[in-house]
Amino acid sequence: MQNVVIIGSGCAGLTAAIYAARANLKPLVLEGHEPGGQLSLTTHVENFPGFPDGIMGPELIENMKKQAARFGAEFKHGAVTEVDLSKRPFKIRLAGETIETKTLIVAAGATARLLGLKGEKELIGRGLSTCATCDGYFFRGKPIAVVGGGDSAMEEANFLSRYASRVYLIHRRNEFRASKIMIDRARANEKVEFVTPYIVEEILSPEGLVTGAKLRHTETKQTREIALDGIFVAIGHNPNSTVFKGTLDMDADGYLIAKHGGISNIPGVFIAGDVQDHRYRQAVTAAGSGCMAAIDAEKFLEGHSLAQAHS
Ligand code: NAP
Repeated sequence: MQNVVIIGSGCAGLTAAIYAARANLKPLVLEGHEPGGQLSLTTHVENFPGFPDGIMGPELIENMKKQAARFGAEFKHGAVTEVDLSKRPFKIRLAGETIETKTLIVAAGATARLLGLKGEKELIGRGLSTCATCDGYFFRGKPIAVVGGGDSAMEEANFLSRYASRVYLIHRRNEFRASKIMIDRARANEKVEFVTPYIVEEILSPEGLVTGAKLRHTETKQTREIALDGIFVAIGHNPNSTVFKGTLDMDADGYLIAKHGGISNIPGVFIAGDVQDHRYRQAVTAAGSGCMAAIDAEKFLEGHSLAQAHS
């Protein structure tokens, strides 16, 4: 029987693990299908406080993991396939095993949608990014593209125009999902050039770094190539919340709904990080919410006199 099980080993899950471990609760972290979360897919992180020269995403994650392990957190590979939160202890199933726990922290993250092109994932951190706030700074004076037609794409195009020499906004339709005000702002930005209706057919990267994109007009079927140093894919995120359907409250897009920090609709279940955040999505906000969820879990155990200290 565990005191605290943490689903997810990104920034939120590992910060929750550090706090729960230091509270002597010996948390068990279930690492999920993408151990380390989105940070493990990025390169240089320059906006996490405390690192004046920046730090590589995978190194930051590895440090957090070591920090949690040092205080007694334990780790298990594998993705959760089923949960039973109908009564305590909660039951969590992964790879044919059932784990029982008094409290649960869901920090399962969100996965940025990719275009599904060959070699795309390998180019993350090599010119391809899913986070303008994280990586925009690396493209000062360079031509870049943003792919997508929603509010994120508009917002990222405007944000990136601070750095880039030119921002091509590539969208597969002439109509946009984004709100009018966001479209108008992007249209009024003289650095942003709308390229529609085009799909990205291929990302050009002859030497493993993005150098351009081959686009296809969806109506005429004609292709064109543009030279680029960076491509920002802004076609939405999928919160990793499928196993909680019908048990934890979520919005229409599948983001879990947290109240007062990380409190869920089920007593003893707490939520943190990008699985409940479609707005900020930053490493530091995920870490902060992981801390809150761990403190909430600790207080819950204390309040129910359930905490069992581990030496
Ligand atoms: P979104 O609204 O779901 O838009 C995704 C866009 O990506 C759509 O234009 C879609 O094209 C395109 N797309 C999806 N799959 C694609 C593919 N495989 N290839 C090419 N294009 C593809 O996602 P979002 O922009 O991330 O926004 C998510 C939510 O956050 C929305 O509710 C949004 O309003 C909100 N948000 C708000 C703000 C703000 O208010 N400041 C900023 C960011 C996000 P189609 O339209 O053709 O389907």
